[in-house]
Amino acid sequence: MNTEIINSIMPGQVILEYSYLLSAIMFVIGLKLQSHPETARKGNFWAALGMILPMITTLILNKNGAGEGISMTNASVVILVIIVGSVVGTIMARKVKMTAMPQMVSFFNATGGAASAAVALIEYDKNPNEAVLVGLLGLVVGSIAFSGSMIAYGKLDGKVGDIFSKIMTYVNLMFMIVITAVILLVIFGGFEQDINTYLVYSLLVLSLIYGVSFVMPIGGADMPVVISLLNSLTGIAAAMAGFIYQNEAMILGGILVGAAGTILTLQMCKAMNRSLINVIIGSFGGGGESNANVQGSIKEIQLSDAAVLLSYSQKVVVIPGYGLAVAQAQHIAHELENILESKGVNVRYAIHPVAGRMPGHMNVLLAEADVSYDKLVEMDDINPDMPNVDVVIVVGANDVVNPAAYDDPGSPIYGMPIIDAHLAKNIIIMKRGMGKGYAGIENFLFFNDKTRMLFGDAKSSIQKLVNEIKSL
Ligand code: NDP
Repeated sequence: MNTEIINSIMPGQVILEYSYLLSAIMFVIGLKLQSHPETARKGNFWAALGMILPMITTLILNKNGAGEGISMTNASVVILVIIVGSVVGTIMARKVKMTAMPQMVSFFNATGGAASAAVALIEYDKNPNEAVLVGLLGLVVGSIAFSGSMIAYGKLDGKVGDIFSKIMTYVNLMFMIVITAVILLVIFGGFEQDINTYLVYSLLVLSLIYGVSFVMPIGGADMPVVISLLNSLTGIAAAMAGFIYQNEAMILGGILVGAAGTILTLQMCKAMNRSLINVIIGSFGGGGESNANVQGSIKEIQLSDAAVLLSYSQKVVVIPGYGLAVAQAQHIAHELENILESKGVNVRYAIHPVAGRMPGHMNVLLAEADVSYDKLVEMDDINPDMPNVDVVIVVGANDVVNPAAYDDPGSPIYGMPIIDAHLAKNIIIMKRGMGKGYAGIENFLFFNDKTRMLFGDAKSSIQKLVNEIKSL
């Protein structure tokens, strides 16, 4: 076959496009596998393959309009960046503590947003006369995802507090209107190039500020919704960057992240009983003033009494929360489950959708400890059975069992569905002291007549409990 024929069927281009299709299929397989803790690792592997494949084929086969491949200099820069990024990412992922994982995810999310915004800006600078909607949207969404995720990182790390004021709702609305107006001006205004460039850079600044002002007022317990929303924004920004380069792999990858993030956002909204529109305007939860007075007193339980109570129960439900992750108590919790089950006690785990600090946090921890997946029961499924439960053991959970969500209209978590621990016959709460939860509010469950506190680090408390039960 002569070169002309080869060129006419463009085998390189065809292979490139098939590699993009294959990578999209790998992403879908990865997502599917990630939806179950048992297969999640394999899912990550498939998704990583789906990422590597188009990077390699693009480097080798991509041609510009003039049929030229990537220059050696550019290819070396790209390879260097890939190597540095992979090494830094691997070190960070290996070193990060399980409790700091949500912060790392937010940070990575921020870098995705920044990269997409940078693509949009660089392409605008190359062709200022071709400012198109998709480029401007990529710039706006990427910048919001970047600055918003950095604030979310700070909040999860306890470095940034909430700044709540009703005024923020109007400020955020104003930002949205101004940003929309500037986009329209750039596209339809017919201005000189200098003015357009000025407007595009104003768009960058406005979007970065909006990202901050949108996340800043979000009350503690509502953070999960914002985190998943920011995640979907990064996906959308990446898809926009893909449209700019006409690169199917980037478009598909971005759309998948955007769609998965949007589904998660809607599920989180449902879990928190919040509406999405309030999230977007950036003002919900938080800021409420609790009106309720604490009634009742704190009562402690001796280890021996807890051991007897649990051993002679029929139904026990463990409610894990962020403190379980801090204490790394998942393995010993599984041991407690085994020993109680060996005594004929039925043990289950009640999983609240926002327990911990990232979606699916408790599922990941318990799967890591080999807890059988059918032992994990979702909040909506376990709540109706709560009055029949002999003992609930609340392990380092706080906000997700706080009845203020039902009883206190002034509370920032009012309206949020909770696990109905207060309906069980006996309540044992394991925590180190009277520390508050992420939302920073008092928990009346601790003062309930049926509640007994077992103070101490969750891991050592459960270990002692296991020893006590063994010695019965
Ligand atoms: P909380 O943050 O409400 O409470 C955790 C409790 O664990 C604290 O009261 C603390 O009390 C206790 N604790 C901490 N360390 C230990 C330890 N070593 N041993 C025993 N107890 C310990 O956690 P929940 O899981 O109940 O609720 C999650 C909160 O985080 C919700 O408000 C949710 O909205 C928010 N959030 C969730 C995200 C998600 O995606 N899941 C993301 C961002 C925020 P003490 O100091 O007394 O020990």
